[in-house]
Amino acid sequence: MTENVVILGAGAVGMTVATYLKRHTGHRVTVFSSDTHTAYSQCGIPFVLEGVIHDFPDLIVRPLDTFLDMGIDLHLETTVNHIDATGQKVISDEGIFEYDHLVIATGSVPFIPTIKGGELDGVFTLHTLSDGMKINCYINDGSRVVIIGAGGIGTELAGSLAVRGIAVTLVEALPQALPLTMDPDMALLVQQHLTLLGVQVVTGAHVDSINGKRHVRSVSVQGDTVPTGTVLSDIVIVATGLRALSGIARDAGYKIGATGGIVTDEHLRVSADGEILDNVYAGGECAEVKEFVTGSPFISRLGSAARRMALVIGENIAGQDAVYPPTLSPNVVVVGEMTAGSVGITSHTAALNDISVVCGISEGRTRAGYYPGGSQLNVKLIFSNRRLVGAQVVAGEGVKERIDALSLAIRMGATVDDLLEWETAYAPPVSMIIDPVTFAADDAKMKMEGLA
Ligand SMILES: Cc1cc2nc3c(=O)[nH]c(=O)nc-3n(C[C@H](O)[C@H](O)[C@H](O)COP(=O)(O)OP(=O)(O)OC[C@H]3O[C@@H](n4cnc5c(N)ncnc54)[C@H](O)[C@@H]3O)c2cc1C
Repeated sequence: MTENVVILGAGAVGMTVATYLKRHTGHRVTVFSSDTHTAYSQCGIPFVLEGVIHDFPDLIVRPLDTFLDMGIDLHLETTVNHIDATGQKVISDEGIFEYDHLVIATGSVPFIPTIKGGELDGVFTLHTLSDGMKINCYINDGSRVVIIGAGGIGTELAGSLAVRGIAVTLVEALPQALPLTMDPDMALLVQQHLTLLGVQVVTGAHVDSINGKRHVRSVSVQGDTVPTGTVLSDIVIVATGLRALSGIARDAGYKIGATGGIVTDEHLRVSADGEILDNVYAGGECAEVKEFVTGSPFISRLGSAARRMALVIGENIAGQDAVYPPTLSPNVVVVGEMTAGSVGITSHTAALNDISVVCGISEGRTRAGYYPGGSQLNVKLIFSNRRLVGAQVVAGEGVKERIDALSLAIRMGATVDDLLEWETAYAPPVSMIIDPVTFAADDAKMKMEGLA
């Protein structure tokens, strides 16, 4: 039976659901997006700013015509302002549209703290392709840039701009970079690499004010352990986190969770008045799911997670019984020549959840010691009750592969003994004969048994 599917958001989730449904069902699919562009890689934006990718249009993975040819009714620069949940309609800038199935894929917006001078010319956030283009127009090789916030986006961007030769100061309020995904000792390796690239990394400090008449001229930084000072700056990029765009769902009566995301069940269906709704779904950065290790409410801010959620939603609308299991959200950040990856929980998250952990660490190389090239490889494994619950890897190569393998290990409930029995492949140009992950497991086991 042909039904009406309305999708709010033409980002990673929205367009994946739309194309899935057009390939596998006969449904009419209407997609709305406030954005000017669709089907582009947000993840590639830092690398255009770095100069590795030639230009922003290169990030558009599918031209608009592809969607129109598929019969998707796509409305860009069109905001949906209201969901009439009872009448099964959405009200957009362009009128009223009825739905049989509704997908909320509205993503998130940058969270911008109130900072004096935040309205000056030269203050940006980096979230959309247009944001990237605006920054690129403003920036030149002599620019001085202050990035506020050393999460994944701020850290990656700092590396990209530094590689381009731009003077970057990275200011983070917490004592370490990548506070949500890395332990302080592993984050320090990234900070040191940023410093080598020429980035001034200031942690444990906040930006008091952005100064200038019309344009940014400087930034005042204040911290407990760093001297208060003024950093000359032409551009400020605020990368202080994201907030789920869930207001439209809240107004429609759908349940919003502690994270600010739209609460979903394992099929990614939303609920209202304590009832799961069979025909309304949420996915991506606006949706609250469950974190694998703690079972806590969680928003996964990853394109990889968004795509998996989209397929689950598409399959369910197509009549299947697809489940999005609790997420481990393996992630990597690329900073110049260094990659930092993590999966599962950090020691800090463990402490917040009263989970007692034992950590194993190791430092090796990515290639045989005598083989040219390669880099240092640092591994940290986090165990609870002998089971692996978190892993962090920092190196110049071979990070993603290890994080992916360790992601599976956590999901399968691997213990420290399993990791010690883990057989790994070897050839001098790509590995040491014993993988540094094994040494980290060994270190943890010694600590568990009181031998270290
Ligand atoms: C600079 C940067 C680098 C990144 N790098 C990586 C990476 O390396 N790896 C990784 O896995 N992830 C990365 N991500 C994250 C990844 O891009 C996102 O997690 C993913 O795109 C989220 O998909 P989404 O569909 O939930 O939201 P989005 O793709 O943001 O789409 C949401 C859409 O909804 C629209 N919308 C919102 N409200 C309305 C409304 N009321 N009416 C109509 N439309 C609306 C918005 O305009 C937007 O187009 C990066 C993100 C950024 C910004």
